[in-house]
Amino acid sequence: MQLGIEGRHALVCASSKGLGRACAESLAREGCQLTLVARTESTLHATAQAIRAATGVQVTAVVADITTPAGRGLVLQACPQPDILVTNAGGPPPGDFHDWTREDWLAALDANMLTPIELIKATVDGMVARRFGRIVNITSSAVKAPIDVLGLSNGARAGLTGFVAGIARKTVAHNVTINNLLPGPFDTDRLRGNAAKAASHSGRTLEQELEQRRQANPAGRFGTPAEFGDACAFLCSAQAGFITGQNLLMDGGAFPGVL
Ligand code: NAP
Repeated sequence: MQLGIEGRHALVCASSKGLGRACAESLAREGCQLTLVARTESTLHATAQAIRAATGVQVTAVVADITTPAGRGLVLQACPQPDILVTNAGGPPPGDFHDWTREDWLAALDANMLTPIELIKATVDGMVARRFGRIVNITSSAVKAPIDVLGLSNGARAGLTGFVAGIARKTVAHNVTINNLLPGPFDTDRLRGNAAKAASHSGRTLEQELEQRRQANPAGRFGTPAEFGDACAFLCSAQAGFITGQNLLMDGGAFPGVL
């Protein structure tokens, strides 16, 4: 299936590793030009070079913290008119809600709610004017099934989800869609980092902890970043213009509900 987005410009945030990188790779395979963003220069440039070498597409790498106004300014200067926007940032740390301060909450809201909203605000009018736009927000399965220790994430992402539901119906008549992709457990550095922390508390080895988590999922495994990236690319395709305001859960069937 050709996705009909060759030559489109995609801004993919938090994309030197993990799910963001996988989205960038899938879009590059479809011929999109890319702007990639991350804070660590060495990893970002290595990813940009790997994607150029594998696909031949044009890749611009912007070293920036996407959660700050200054970082977003740099990114939007490099890529003022994306056709495709994939919002993403690191997730908040796990913990106990008794310990979270106002500053902790503001950091989570900045990263996982207000940053995507600011990026949408800065780019959606241009998409509407050009009559093509695809916005995909990487959120979390915690939007459907909150995870107690990830309360900062549950709260911030729920706020973004509500906002997106409100505007996604206003842009679709202009061929601009806005959807959220909700990852369950995907095999990335973040998942392994969280599992390592859990293992250090439980006395299990990291491999035991990972295996227990794999077996807890109906699929008996973690998702691969490539699976996530390809789902993102489909939501960004020409064919997906009638899909908007949706929350697509990718969790191997872990969420047990009908809807
Ligand atoms: P990851 O493997 O740790 O990769 C995170 C990427 O984001 C890196 O490229 C990192 O590079 C970049 N990044 C982080 N903070 C940034 C910032 N402030 N500005 C710019 N770039 C930033 O994480 P992941 O597993 O792909 O997770 C991506 C998102 O999905 C997170 O919000 C996570 O909570 C959510 N999620 C993941 C899973 C999962 O199973 N993996 C499940 C549910 C939700 P630098 O550190 O160099 O900036």
